[in-house]
Amino acid sequence: MNIPYDVIVIGGGVVGCLTARALSRYQLRVLLLERGADVCSGTSKANTAIIHAGYDAKPGSLKARLNVAGNRMYAQLCEELGVLSERHGTYVVAMADEELRTLEELRERGKQNGVPGLSIISGSRMLQAEPLLNPQARAALYAETGGIVDPFMMTIAAAENAVTNGVTVMLETEVTDLERQDGRISGVRTDSGVFSSRFVVNACGVYADTIMAQAGLTGFRIKPRKGEYYVFDREKSRVRQVLFPCPTPVSKGIVVTPTSHGNTLIGPNAEDTESRDDIVVTKQGLDEVFSGAQRLVPSLDKRDVIAVFAGLRAAGSSGDFWIDAPAEAPGLVNVAGIESPGFTAAPAIAEYVVDLLRECGLPLVPNRAFNPERKPAPHFSELSHTQQQELIAKDPRYGRIVCRCEMVTEGEIVAAIHAPVPALTYDALKRRTRLGAGRCQGGFDTPRVINILARELQVAATAVTKRGFGSELVRRKTKDIGTGGMGE
Ligand SMILES: Cc1cc2nc3c(=O)[nH]c(=O)nc-3n(C[C@H](O)[C@H](O)[C@H](O)COP(=O)(O)OP(=O)(O)OC[C@H]3O[C@@H](n4cnc5c(N)ncnc54)[C@H](O)[C@@H]3O)c2cc1C
Repeated sequence: MNIPYDVIVIGGGVVGCLTARALSRYQLRVLLLERGADVCSGTSKANTAIIHAGYDAKPGSLKARLNVAGNRMYAQLCEELGVLSERHGTYVVAMADEELRTLEELRERGKQNGVPGLSIISGSRMLQAEPLLNPQARAALYAETGGIVDPFMMTIAAAENAVTNGVTVMLETEVTDLERQDGRISGVRTDSGVFSSRFVVNACGVYADTIMAQAGLTGFRIKPRKGEYYVFDREKSRVRQVLFPCPTPVSKGIVVTPTSHGNTLIGPNAEDTESRDDIVVTKQGLDEVFSGAQRLVPSLDKRDVIAVFAGLRAAGSSGDFWIDAPAEAPGLVNVAGIESPGFTAAPAIAEYVVDLLRECGLPLVPNRAFNPERKPAPHFSELSHTQQQELIAKDPRYGRIVCRCEMVTEGEIVAAIHAPVPALTYDALKRRTRLGAGRCQGGFDTPRVINILARELQVAATAVTKRGFGSELVRRKTKDIGTGGMGE
């Protein structure tokens, strides 16, 4: 039987997951639907992961307001959810005299947006902060509230905490249409059936306007804009600071930044694309990224690159975030056009959506059992020797290293597979445990992980996928190669 929900959230990106978590503070029946095999399957998994200070967006825009508000919420949120983040500030670097004015303009805009802690520092001070910076740097805008976050774990942890607080998450469930009753949006039609609800929140990333069109709303369009990246070996080309060039009209420019796990990340470029699934990297795009990054850090060496990827900005026709409860489609709340700084703004977007739902008549009775905290699963490599021994004594699977580059144990993998939002694919495990994220990029661990997934999910090895149906990792058994191999 179809249980009616109070709110259905479509889309398990950072916006949908934080919105579901925000709703779980109240006595509501909430369902989160994600078409991917994991939450964090869209843009939230492929971005620069910078907590922006808020000096970029146009003063008075929703982007500016929610960026600054979201930034303020990050410290507590990361603490509650046990997510890695660092707040060492960010720098916009002027490489030529004519760019010095841009720094002044950004500082002024930041002041108008209410961003604290902005200052312009000299090139020589900048070099002290980042020895790998191009010595020709003239000056930089320092934003002390800027930082970086682990984007995968922020999204996953929000979803897990929402589930612990009563939200239902359904993966591999695609919304194909909206249901209507008496002139209201009354639920969704999916490839797994129809679900009724009082309200539907459309947090579909680059697909948000597709859902809007299903509700007859055509005033807002998304044109995806691709950004490509290089990831460097953790031991090499290692920068300490988040370095932006001076921005262009369509993007913040090609950034050089550490990730929260200590790799250097460079990118993105900005390329309009027709497809909402086009995350293919191109030689041209990657060359643009590399030469742009080398302007800031000339010593970057392509031999230290271990991975490339691309993400899609949900660039909207209004140029601003589009968050509304349209009178033409009562029951629907759209959260569209959430391009950068959407990750930073996401906690504030979630609160904004809850307020909109309240204004639309959703009764918000506090959920007294709500627990904002999520205890992160242990990462074996980060524990002291004594802690490691204790863990192995409790569960010997923590003594078996499956990924050698990142030192990930079988115990961590099994814990992730059985977590509140289960990791059901190789990529889902990678995002949670970092297996396969090191120099060999899964060359060593993949057969072992296939075996563990098959065993824990009680499926054949041939049913184990990289990222859901259609991405099976092995086709058939060729020979029995023992426990380290893929035998069923
Ligand atoms: C290149 C690039 C760099 C960026 N850098 C930064 C940065 O440094 N800092 C920052 O703050 N922001 C940054 N952003 C922006 C940030 O990544 C996004 O704003 C944010 O991730 C958007 O989250 P979302 O939840 O709206 O979308 P998504 O993460 O895309 O989530 C939408 C989800 O909806 C699902 N979905 C879609 N259609 C359906 C359907 N019909 N049924 C069910 N599920 C569906 C998708 O599978 C997806 O998982 C960047 C973006 C890009 C592309």
